Amino acid sequence: MTGKEEPGWLAIAGLGPGDDQLVTPEVSAALAEATDVVGYIPYVARVAPRPGLTLHPSDNRVELDRARAALEMAAIGKRVVVVSSGDPGVFAMASAVFEALEGREDWQALNIRVLPGITAMLAAAAAAGAPLGHDFCCINLSDNLKPWEVIETRLRHAARADFAMAFYNPRSASRPEGFLKALTTLREECGSDRLITFARAVSTPEQRLLTVTLGEATPEMADMRTVVIVGNSATRRVGRFVYSPRSAG
Ligand code: SAH
Repeated sequence: MTGKEEPGWLAIAGLGPGDDQLVTPEVSAALAEATDVVGYIPYVARVAPRPGLTLHPSDNRVELDRARAALEMAAIGKRVVVVSSGDPGVFAMASAVFEALEGREDWQALNIRVLPGITAMLAAAAAAGAPLGHDFCCINLSDNLKPWEVIETRLRHAARADFAMAFYNPRSASRPEGFLKALTTLREECGSDRLITFARAVSTPEQRLLTVTLGEATPEMADMRTVVIVGNSATRRVGRFVYSPRSAG
């Protein structure tokens, strides 16, 4: 890098759930100044190409490699945006970038920012009404990065604490049985009358919302574009909406 060049930076940005109107102005500004955009193919596809911007879509599921590649570019003076869907801190790239920084003091000194985005569960809750209006928790049902026993323990504890619950990555072709097990566990803990909302492709033209009881729920109601919200014991319907009252007990 010569003295004349601007120093590089890295922004880890959330693109929101899908609708362009739900991309924050801060993220749009970072993308407008970027020289390079890094991320998983479907997320990079949401960034408009323009002269001076190099897109680096990857199908590489090894997030750490992607994070290191982005840091290498920022270190040589590029202005790099790592994109995630939703919020970058929710089951996404921000943690991978910080993990890549461990033991790398040179990279730790870089200009690094995390730019928040609207995460899927908040967009889904807004579309359904206010099912997360009281205390809630959020669990990734993918067992790629943790054993199923951990997921099941967390499900049971969250249900017993009467949290509303939002579930990411509910179902994939490679693990069709996982979500069935989750539904069975939830029925045991919450009973079959508890409300469950399946929110698919929220804020896109393919959006689909379905609220049923746990007794009626089947695994096919979810896929990998679905976020699932299970209410607490007071969550109820009003008109076409679902909400959790502000007070409990
Ligand atoms: N960082 C993302 C989550 C990535 S994990 C965020 O904050 O939203 C991917 C999971 O997010 C999907 O399996 C699905 O459960 C959920 N998801 C992402 N976008 C969604 C959307 N538009 N509608 C419903 N669920 C979505």
